[in-house]
Amino acid sequence: MTFDTLGKAALHQMLLTATCRRCGRQAKFVAEDLARVYGSSRNPHTLPFKCTTCDAKDCEVRLMGLPFDRKPDTIIWRPTKGRR
Ligand SMILES: [Zn+2]
Repeated sequence: MTFDTLGKAALHQMLLTATCRRCGRQAKFVAEDLARVYGSSRNPHTLPFKCTTCDAKDCEVRLMGLPFDRKPDTIIWRPTKGRR
């Protein structure tokens, strides 16, 4: 099964991780949140993630299922957009 849309990923309660290729910084997102913001037909691999540390847009996007290895330091980022 390939998750080529956010809708599919959200349905399976996937998490999405964006890893900066430059500094290795990682951010995690809940696919459902992203689907709400970007639309469920959006390809998760084309999302415009940007590293806040080095300002690079060169991120590797991966999807992973829940439950995952939830470490105490796991931060799940929620997309922030003006309108709800
Ligand atoms: Zn970076």
